[in-house]
This record gives sequence, structure tokens and C-alpha cells, in this order.
Amino acid sequence: MKDINWNDYSLETQAIRAGHKRTHEDEHSIGIFTTSSYVFKNAEDAALRFTGQKAGNIYSRFTNPTVNAFQERLAFMEKGERCLAFASGMAAIMAVGMGLLKAGDHIVCSRGVFGNTVLLFQNYFGKFGVTTDFVDLTDACAWEAAIKPNTRFLFLETPSNPLTEIADIELLANIAHKNNCFLIVDNCFCTPALQRPFELGADIVVHSATKYLDGQGRCVGGAVIGSNDIMEKHIYPYLRTGGATMSPFNAWVFLSGLETLAIRMKAHCDSAFELAKWLEQQPGVTQVHYPGLPSHAQHDLAKRQQSHFGGIVSFELAGGKDHAWRLIDATEMISITANLGDVKTTITHPATTTHGRLSPEVRALAGIKDGLVRISVGLENNNDIKNDLLRGL
Ligand SMILES: *Cc1c(COP(=O)(O)O)cnc(C)c1O
Repeated sequence: MKDINWNDYSLETQAIRAGHKRTHEDEHSIGIFTTSSYVFKNAEDAALRFTGQKAGNIYSRFTNPTVNAFQERLAFMEKGERCLAFASGMAAIMAVGMGLLKAGDHIVCSRGVFGNTVLLFQNYFGKFGVTTDFVDLTDACAWEAAIKPNTRFLFLETPSNPLTEIADIELLANIAHKNNCFLIVDNCFCTPALQRPFELGADIVVHSATKYLDGQGRCVGGAVIGSNDIMEKHIYPYLRTGGATMSPFNAWVFLSGLETLAIRMKAHCDSAFELAKWLEQQPGVTQVHYPGLPSHAQHDLAKRQQSHFGGIVSFELAGGKDHAWRLIDATEMISITANLGDVKTTITHPATTTHGRLSPEVRALAGIKDGLVRISVGLENNNDIKNDLLRGL
């Protein structure tokens, strides 16, 4: 195989070709390396690999050729230096915390992040003396005001789930760096096909590969991407020791998921935009949250920061929880599931599912109303999606 510098290629090409190191079998499609360990040439070779003086596989908890290919491909696509794969998105976020934090440290996190991220920071890291303050994603002054001398990193998702609020990554990266903190972006909703946080100054990007990177709802996985320095010092040692490793089979599924990422994201975005505009016209719908709509509070920022507006649409019904549940139950095709980023359209009622464990006060602060419905727009025919929603509208 020729030695190609994939940095010279665009994302669509990297997604299809980067990362695969062809073996002596000349395979065109990458194989699944189902091996837990690797054989050394002799005792000295083993010793050199263990000390890191010589590159080479040792044990699949921390290196595996199929997983390496996924890591390398995603690193190119995000324009990051190094990527490490994990067993799930939450395992990836856990690794960032375990790698970077010590007792007494502090995190500033946006209020609207994934529910388990809130619980991980608050309940689990909290047990070990790490404190977290939650702030409004879009209020840069609140981020800055929340930073303390012991703040280690700022953590955010943009667009947020389910309200699709947008944070100014570049502005928050500047605030983080001025205060000697890292900015960590969960890039799950946009994927590198729509937004590349490193180009805007982020220090670490995390992914739930479970969502759009897979794209067909098959496997659970995650990834952390960052500079060689951060990954070598803080994340790789934790992966090797902590062991929340991605399986080779899952890496193989994600590799093929990445191959169609750009074209899928474009189709998701086009269909979501169409649906958002249509929802705005429907009686009983009081508000539609979609960054592509001029009515969205950060519409201009979304245009600047993202190459398209994403596949998630949420909307509020005047009839509150009763109407939301009726609408969800009246669908016949759309899947009632909290998962997202699938070719299948999914529908969920955040107030009683993904955000149901939050207290009513915290939920109100996060802007999750009882009449709110979230849709992850899939790749079925757009008219079929509209017709399915019309049954309950
Ligand atoms: C799903 C999700 C996660 C967690 O990922 P898992 O793969 O389910 O562990 C983290 N962040 C966001 C934004 C998510 O949607």
C-alpha cells in the first residue's frame, strides 16, 4: 500500500480510505482482528514493546489493528492528532475525567448535556472530591464567572439535546485558555462532517460512536480525540489501565459507518430542515427548535460554525404532556426510542425519558417543557415522516 498523507485529502475520502493498513493478504476491505494478544519475536522484543521503546501490539485491551484503523480514520476526520476508542460514549467521557482530574478539581459544564454526563460529573466524580458547576450553554459570561482557580476543564455539547442551542466554541475556547483550562466538546450531534471543534480551538473532542458514526443503530462505542501530548499523558494510560476498550467487531462496524457519514449527514440535515419548516406551519405547534430556522436564537452562529444544521428537531405542543404522548402513540412507523443518529426516524418525550431523572426545577431551568417532543430525523421518505406525525397532530 502506498504511504499516503491523508491530511492532503478531504473528509469524504478520509472517511472511506484512511486508517486501513493492508496486510500481506491484500484484503480490500479491512478484516476483524479477533485476537486478545500478540506474539513477540523474542524476549527482547517483548521487553522493548512493554517499555514503549518499540512500537507494536501487546494486548487488545489497548491496541488492536481493527480498533487502530477506526481511531486513525476518526482522528483525520476531526483534524485531531490522536484518537482512542472506548466501549461507549460514556466510557470516553469517563476516561477524560479519570485522565485529567484529581480530588479537589472543578469542572464547568453546560446545563443541557446528556443526562448521564451530568450524573457522572455530579454523583461519581463528586464522590471523589471533584465539584461541578452547571451553566447556561449560550451565556459566555456565565461560563467565565463560573471558572475557579481549581477549574480543570469546560465541557459542552453543541447543538444541545433536545433544544438544539448552539455554543460559540471559539469564544469559549478563548475563555478556557485564558484561565488555563481545557475546552472539551462532545461532538456527537454534528460529527466532523458538520463541525470540527479543533479548528475553533477546542482541546479535546469526545464522541458517542453509537449515534451518527455508526448511523444504523447497531453498536455502542465512543472515542476521545486530542493532541499527542494530552492523549499520551492523560488518556492512553487510563485506557490501558481502566480497560473500557472498544471491541474489534464494533470498530469494524463503525469503520463502515464512517464511510457513509458525509452523505448520510447531508441527507439527515436536508430532511430535518424540511421537517422543521413544515412543523412551524402546523396548528398546535407553538415552537420549533432547529438551528436552520431564522427564528432560532443562534441561527447566525450556527451558520458560521457548522456546515449544515443537523438532524435533530424538537418542538413544543400547546397541549402539553397529554398531546405529546398522544402524538408519539399515534405514529405507526417512527420508532419510539430515545436513541438518535439512526437511519430510522426516532421520537421521544424528553421530560419523561432522557430528562425524567432530573428534578422538575432543574428540568425547568434546562427549558425542557412537558409539551416538548424530540425527533431524530432519519432517512425514510420525508413525506412518510410528515404523514406519520400528522396522525397525532
Ligand atoms: C448518547 C450520548 C452520549 C453517551 O454515549 P453512549 O455511547 O450511549 O455511552 C454522550 N453524549 C451525547 C451527546 C449522547 O447523545
